[in-house]
Amino acid sequence: QAHKAAASSGPGTRYGDSMPQTRLTVLSGPSGVGKSTVVAELRRAHPQVWLSVSVTTRKPRPGETHGVEYFFAGDAEFDRMIASGELLEWAEFAGNRYGTPRDAVMARIATGTPTLLEIDLQGARQVRASMPEALLVFLAPPSWEELERRLRGRGTEPADVIACRLEAGLVELAAEKEFDVTLVNTSVQDVCEALIALLVEADN
Ligand code: 5GP
Repeated sequence: QAHKAAASSGPGTRYGDSMPQTRLTVLSGPSGVGKSTVVAELRRAHPQVWLSVSVTTRKPRPGETHGVEYFFAGDAEFDRMIASGELLEWAEFAGNRYGTPRDAVMARIATGTPTLLEIDLQGARQVRASMPEALLVFLAPPSWEELERRLRGRGTEPADVIACRLEAGLVELAAEKEFDVTLVNTSVQDVCEALIALLVEADN
């Protein structure tokens, strides 16, 4: 709470009680809040940050490239990666599975590269449990109405998938208090600047 005054000039930054000093940063938040837009801007404007590429069983959306946004895998391959312990964390989300390849993350941390995971709440909790020193950042929508509008407006998913994601979003919004920092997504640029400051701060 002591940080509130300093945060008031930024994009709605709210700090929790602890702010661990570490290079591994996790960005999470409800589906549709704009995580992937923030990550795309970060990729463009701050190439010094390494973004973990997750494995998913979801089918590629138009414009997504294997090895860039995700590694797209079948169920059998995903099963194999779980069994062999290759995933740092994994979760099922809206009918598909998503996971973070462990070795790539560990290699970047070992070389001191600022490293960011963009994962769902269940994954963030697993990282919290296995790497307590990680900095967990929650990306919050300006309002629930705005989140709903963004999810419906994306136009890439059928109605039942959107309903499923909205439901998950409600649960995820309630988890904000588990995170070290909240960034309110009022503008992609502002969130990126705040995130970079955290990643660099975490680097010291
Ligand atoms: P989308 O299908 O929209 O790309 O992603 C759906 C959700 O899966 C998002 O909330 C995203 O953050 C999450 N996600 C993406 N990669 C991972 C991962 O490796 N692990 C976990 N736990 N969640 C992920």
